[in-house]
Amino acid sequence: MEIKPSTLYIVGTPIGNLEDISYRAVQVLKDADVIVCEDTRVTGILMARYEIPKKPLLPHYKNREADTIGPVLKHLQEGRSIALVSDAGTPGISDPGCFLVSEVVRAGFTVEPIPGPSAATALLSVSHIPNTHFYFEGFLPHKKGRQTRLKFLADMDCGVVFYESTHRIMKFLAEILEYFGDRKILLGRELTKLHETVFRGTVSGAIAFFEEHSQKGEFVIYIHGKIDS
Ligand code: SAM
Repeated sequence: MEIKPSTLYIVGTPIGNLEDISYRAVQVLKDADVIVCEDTRVTGILMARYEIPKKPLLPHYKNREADTIGPVLKHLQEGRSIALVSDAGTPGISDPGCFLVSEVVRAGFTVEPIPGPSAATALLSVSHIPNTHFYFEGFLPHKKGRQTRLKFLADMDCGVVFYESTHRIMKFLAEILEYFGDRKILLGRELTKLHETVFRGTVSGAIAFFEEHSQKGEFVIYIHGKIDS
């Protein structure tokens, strides 16, 4: 693959299992002049695993995306190719990326996708619940607007995909039961990792299950829609 100058590549990386990366993603990471990433230690592990030569790593943080724009545009103006990765999965999906992409597009440079894993699609791929249509919510707001959002989502015909952390999973499930009722649920914990768990059942069943089993790790949840089938 010929990497293009003055191009920003958006590169999907594993959501846990380091083997889950495309040949093309590895090639782009090897050939890019600069890698824009979140935690340099996380990206460093991936680079070591795939023998990606050492190169400048430009940190890019949530809520501080504007800090990266200047250096990224300068690199692109000088003809360098850049790979954007996040700590896990697809950049821009509940991760920083969107602001950087919009500014790079506005400046007239090319942005190309190098598709890879995402927790949402990994979960949906093993769904037993028909999900022809789904709505991706990601993380709910923690405080302001949370109830309004829950009411809005509970009224949707199609199913909804959420992201949730270990600390809030039980509160989250209790709220889903309250706002959505006891619907069908598909829940993935630590997908592609050692302690991968896929729970299939109802919301009340999930609460009972995770009261008895470990709540540690990362969670992705699909709640069946009000009507969708
Ligand atoms: N960009 C990522 C993607 O494409 O899926 C999402 C990043 S977001 C900051 C992290 C959240 O994604 C976690 O809190 C969890 O809800 C979900 N997630 C990431 N990896 C996961 C995994 N291996 N198993 C289950 N959920 C995961």
